[in-house]
Amino acid sequence: MSYVIIGNSYAAVGAIEAIRQVDRDTAITVISDEPYRCYARPLITFWLGRATATRNMYYRPADFYKRKKVEPMLGRRAASIDFSGRAVLLENGDRVAYDKLLIATGGKPFIPPIKGYTPGVKHVHTFTKWDDAKALYALSKRHKKAVVIGGGLIGLKASEGLNDVGVDTTIVELGPRVLAVALDEYSGQVASRRLNDNGIKTVTGVTAQEILVNKKNEVTGVVLQDGRRMECGILVLAIGVRPNVDLVKDTGVSVERGIVTDERMQTTVPGVYAAGDVVQNYNILMARQDVIAIVPLAYEQGRVAGLNMAGRHAEYKGGIGMNSVEIYGLPIMTMGLTNPVSESQQSEVLVEGEIYRKFVFEGNRLVGAILMGQVDCGGVLTHLIRSKRDVEPLKEYIRRGDLLALSAFIKTECSCYSPEWVRAQESGFYFYK
Ligand SMILES: Cc1cc2nc3c(=O)[nH]c(=O)nc-3n(C[C@H](O)[C@H](O)[C@H](O)COP(=O)(O)OP(=O)(O)OC[C@H]3O[C@@H](n4cnc5c(N)ncnc54)[C@H](O)[C@@H]3O)c2cc1C
Repeated sequence: MSYVIIGNSYAAVGAIEAIRQVDRDTAITVISDEPYRCYARPLITFWLGRATATRNMYYRPADFYKRKKVEPMLGRRAASIDFSGRAVLLENGDRVAYDKLLIATGGKPFIPPIKGYTPGVKHVHTFTKWDDAKALYALSKRHKKAVVIGGGLIGLKASEGLNDVGVDTTIVELGPRVLAVALDEYSGQVASRRLNDNGIKTVTGVTAQEILVNKKNEVTGVVLQDGRRMECGILVLAIGVRPNVDLVKDTGVSVERGIVTDERMQTTVPGVYAAGDVVQNYNILMARQDVIAIVPLAYEQGRVAGLNMAGRHAEYKGGIGMNSVEIYGLPIMTMGLTNPVSESQQSEVLVEGEIYRKFVFEGNRLVGAILMGQVDCGGVLTHLIRSKRDVEPLKEYIRRGDLLALSAFIKTECSCYSPEWVRAQESGFYFYK
């Protein structure tokens, strides 16, 4: 009997820890194309910006694999899976046999066709791996102007890291604001102002239509759709990330938006599980299958997969989108639907100086929130959204923005409250500074 996990990040760690709760001895092999032990991916920003030292990058201690009796195969890429022979084939031809397999290959940056761009253009990077941060840091010593295409979470994070090492950075975002999906107009403006005040420029409503290169095939700038030219020696493409389903294309593993799994995280091939950013999973709020690519869900899905792989019965019941960032001292949490999409949804807003709170209700249910400047009790609000409970008796607390009272009320009055659950939710917000 053996377990094999492809990927070595949050979903993989969740699975390892769950398997070892049930099964202390069966061999576990982890295959990762990155050469590092599991690290906290969101921290690559702060490593680039020199705010996090290498020793603080890791998600688990150095003896993690030894304690969990895991054989790590780091810096090794899985090239394909032989489902009928139950083996993973590595790039060098090695075969790693499995009885139970977990695919935890995460997300992959998406690069649309842009005139002038070929994978060979130098000084153009995506920003999802520690090696990307290392490459950008090396470039920052020689080039002092960067353009980041994409003002979502990853674009913002890349910009912050570059800005912090003295690179004059401009974000170019096609949408009307940075973090366009998570924020609304007001909070987007506040976020942009905070970026601008700290040296990062933002250009919205337009994107790059051409990448300019010199004779050495190094990037020298971009041309925007409105004809503007922007010079840069570093270009970051942060347009989006999609499930990395390369290994299961045209196999028996069903793929829609991401890998399809059942509630036990098993794919359409028996004995083969999938978890994390590579899967689609149930969006509780939208009542549909979505890719919700965040740390807490990746870990939770990995745990559910691990328990089932080891013979227990566990089910993953779905999640909601949430985000937690800090932009130069401005904490922001968003959860659920932050911009109403139908007339049946109403939003209520509270502004007190630098503090902005927005709650989106649908009838008696809370379906989304933005907390900016003060983010207490984000976990409690997430709980209210996820549990779809009637918040009518709590609305007054929510309106007053009295989130501490709300939390206390829930603790004493609400039968669905479980201290463990809310604690887990609070810690589920990975609030990286
Ligand atoms: C800059 C940045 C900031 C972020 N900030 C936040 C945040 O603040 N909060 C939050 O919740 N989420 C954040 N995220 C998202 C979060 O990092 C992901 O949701 C999470 O890492 C997903 O974990 P995972 O285990 O599914 O896969 P991943 O972390 O994507 O890891 C998958 C691993 O599999 C490896 N792999 C892929 N294919 C193969 C193969 N064929 N062979 C071997 N190995 C392979 C990959 O190289 C990678 O190491 C951030 C992401 C980035 C990039």
